[in-house]
Amino acid sequence: MLRLTEIILPLSTSQDDIENTLRAAACSRLGIAPEALRALTIFRRSYDARKRSAITLTYSVDVEVADEAAVLKRVAGLRTVMPTPPMEYQYVGHAPADLPESRRPVVIGFGPCGLFAALILAQMGFRPIILERGRVVRERTKDTWGLWRKNTLQPESNVQFGEGGAGTFSDGKLSTQVKDPKHYGRKVLQEFVAADAPPEILYVSKPHIGTFRLVKMIEQMRAQIAALGGEFRFESRVDDIEIEDGRVRGVRLAGGEFIAASHVVLAVGHSARDTFCMLHKRGVFMEAKPFSLGFRIEHPQSVIDRARFGPSAGHPVLGAADYKLVHHAGNGRAVYSFCMCPGGTVVAAASEPGGVVTNGMSQYSRNERNANAGIVVGIEPKDFPGIEDSPLAGIDFQRHWEKRAYELGGGDYSAPAQLVGDFLAGRPSTALGSVMPSYKPGVTLTDLSSSLPDYAIAAIREALPAFERQIKGFSMHDAVLTGVETRTSSPLRITRRDDFQSMNTDGLFPAGEGAGYAGGIMSAAIDGMKVAEAVALHLLGRDDIT
Ligand code: FAD
Repeated sequence: MLRLTEIILPLSTSQDDIENTLRAAACSRLGIAPEALRALTIFRRSYDARKRSAITLTYSVDVEVADEAAVLKRVAGLRTVMPTPPMEYQYVGHAPADLPESRRPVVIGFGPCGLFAALILAQMGFRPIILERGRVVRERTKDTWGLWRKNTLQPESNVQFGEGGAGTFSDGKLSTQVKDPKHYGRKVLQEFVAADAPPEILYVSKPHIGTFRLVKMIEQMRAQIAALGGEFRFESRVDDIEIEDGRVRGVRLAGGEFIAASHVVLAVGHSARDTFCMLHKRGVFMEAKPFSLGFRIEHPQSVIDRARFGPSAGHPVLGAADYKLVHHAGNGRAVYSFCMCPGGTVVAAASEPGGVVTNGMSQYSRNERNANAGIVVGIEPKDFPGIEDSPLAGIDFQRHWEKRAYELGGGDYSAPAQLVGDFLAGRPSTALGSVMPSYKPGVTLTDLSSSLPDYAIAAIREALPAFERQIKGFSMHDAVLTGVETRTSSPLRITRRDDFQSMNTDGLFPAGEGAGYAGGIMSAAIDGMKVAEAVALHLLGRDDIT
């Protein structure tokens, strides 16, 4: 098989006949007759919108040709033709058929990280036991909507907690910046497609799934793990961990039940504050790490589409436009857009009573009226009061601002909000303009200047006009800021060694976003796979972790 890259076509190319167009381009590049090209699959499609009046599509394709060796010889030196690299996932080993019960690994948390750790372990025959504090995804969906529609928060079943983890009610963006020479990401996408995700996620440059499809996919993946011998325990919060002579002996559930285990994957996400406290009390090594704080901003999606795509705004291949922005403020703070959701809604993402937290989600169609994104400011452990005394100080800092937002919102999970024009002018908002905020259960118009630390407010005030220079309309008067965005990543790292075990606790494998090793669905899933491999190698008595 050969891979051809940089096949550039105008956006106007008909998608009905795209395969024939690509075949013709491939034959021309390889200098072969049409009948010598046996098969073609699209490997990647991206767009180049730098020139808005002439947007192009860039394809990479894999082709099977009649005499590959001869073709390769003819195109030798051509940078855009190469043998297709092997990308199939290779398991590091397989469990012995007589794996004792006591050696079954335990996975705590069934978000993307725990899901992929459990899936890979199950596919290798290790029959993992999965402990998840929240409810199964259907029940969890009802609980989550209870906050959005009836102002009722369930502390154990919400946007952060429950089957599927934090990204279940999300935009389902699947891109990541992590280096992935072993193509773990490809395996993640293939497993998602096998569970009914849209097949195009395998080749589009910015794949996304959207909320409703994610819910169904998670159920299918759970069924696959169970069919391979995995065991699920929902509504089973791990409240304690038994450690003896620096080695894990097992975990205790909230109801008191003890589960003996020698290998525990800790994939609890960034919101498991009680679990972090418990681990700290038990002496598991952890350290504070930077994260970001800010607001969600909402614009009409049409403003973003026009700015990014000009006359091609609304083209079906382009879909709803996204953006990625960064500004280095004069006070030394970086302000950047976070988790941008085209054509989506702002969601209430609290998991603790008496706090307001924002985030964003969308459906696969991304056809809601507004675009939203976090506009957040980087903060360091030295910013957290009390950091000298505890690595958990970042949690208190997050909680402080979440409670402040709850008060400013009126104390019923409504979120405080302000129009961008008023925020920049330093006056409270009293009426909405042309942009209707999508946050449910609703917003309370106010002055957001006391809802974040002064340095963050100053940095965002400076950044919004700077972003206007990149996206016309970004600092429009009527755009809405909703606060506060605090759960951008984990406020701490449960540091691990090269063999993926905790620095000071053998048998404990910290993983995913909560442990500070991932940010986003894809990177959490990839980290889960790597940790599953480390667990398997350890159980098999091998030390060839790469
Ligand atoms: P989590 O997904 O947080 O999963 C941790 C799981 O552990 C939870 O299910 C929790 O209930 C469980 N748990 C916690 N403590 C315990 C305990 N003591 N015992 C048992 N179980 C426990 N990322 C993207 O890449 N793209 C997006 O579009 C996107 N949109 C998002 C939208 C929203 C609204 C939110 C909240 C997040 C979004 N994210 C998105 C971020 C993404 O969801 C996370 O990065 C990802 O889910 C982290 O995966 P994880 O498995 O490490 O942790």
